[in-house]
Amino acid sequence: MELTDKLAILADAAKYDASCASSGAGRRDSRGGKGVGSTEGMGICHSYTPDGRCVSLLKILLTNFCIYDCAYCVNRASSNVRRARFTAAEVVKLTLDFYKRNYIEGLFLSSGIIRNGDYTMEQMVEVARSLREDHHFAGYIHLKTIPEASPELLEKAGRYADRLSINVELPTAEGLARLAPEKRADGIRDAMGELRWRIDENTEARRAAKATPRRRPPRFAPAGQSTQMIVGAGPAASRHDAMGLGELDIDYVLFGALEGALSAEGRDMASWWAQTMEVPAVLSDPQADGETADPAGCEFLAVGESVWKAPQGAAIALSEIAQRLETL
Ligand code: SF4
Repeated sequence: MELTDKLAILADAAKYDASCASSGAGRRDSRGGKGVGSTEGMGICHSYTPDGRCVSLLKILLTNFCIYDCAYCVNRASSNVRRARFTAAEVVKLTLDFYKRNYIEGLFLSSGIIRNGDYTMEQMVEVARSLREDHHFAGYIHLKTIPEASPELLEKAGRYADRLSINVELPTAEGLARLAPEKRADGIRDAMGELRWRIDENTEARRAAKATPRRRPPRFAPAGQSTQMIVGAGPAASRHDAMGLGELDIDYVLFGALEGALSAEGRDMASWWAQTMEVPAVLSDPQADGETADPAGCEFLAVGESVWKAPQGAAIALSEIAQRLETL
């Protein structure tokens, strides 16, 4: 498979990771030969450094092959998606090429689990090691870490990366056991605690060394750690699905399609849910505007593509929708 094909698959597969989310924009491109630019490509997102600078990152997966089967993930083992895998050397080359062309200022690297946690983490650490040691790459590196990986690999990851992250995934251990049965809530908590401890210890050791002639220890993940968690779920395809989601201790259940017109079935289910259950119902209406928006009996309305496409701009489109909701 060509490197560009791998890049298309593995940049697209990484777009669902919200640890370094970009702002939304409607889909536009200039392929007809008119104009310049495109909002359709995946692969470059923005993140903030500890001193507040916004940096653009090459955001990719090392691979979207995965031996786990987390129900909420497009890359799960049972998912029927095109798969690809970069070698560590290919990720290094892409990062350096993009960096030298001034497309990016850093790398965000995550991965599906191949073989086991340690093997996957070794490959990711090798990317960061090679960038730092072989190429003296001084740009920003964010590595998504695998909770089951050994403490030695986490230590190495923190030595090369600016930021590390581990996904909490779901608010409760029961939710995790149900939707991601191969993951362990206590393992995730332990790995996050281990990172927290190492970051604090390193900060303290560097501070102490500053006041003495001793050499300061190398930095460990100086931009800290981050995480992401699923706080709501949907779209629920049936009442039965919605009941299952509602048991996961989530903050809302989403009804209706995420793209296209508001579905009558989604509206029916949302209002049934809102009348029956305590967990709030969110009705998705991707085409809602200041004249049509109507949550009809449920607690929240999720707006979508129409806001980003509005000729008057997203901020005005949103305030028009808010004004309409106040009058209903
Ligand atoms: S381990 Fe990660 S990549 Fe694999 S299915 Fe779960 S969330 Fe997706």
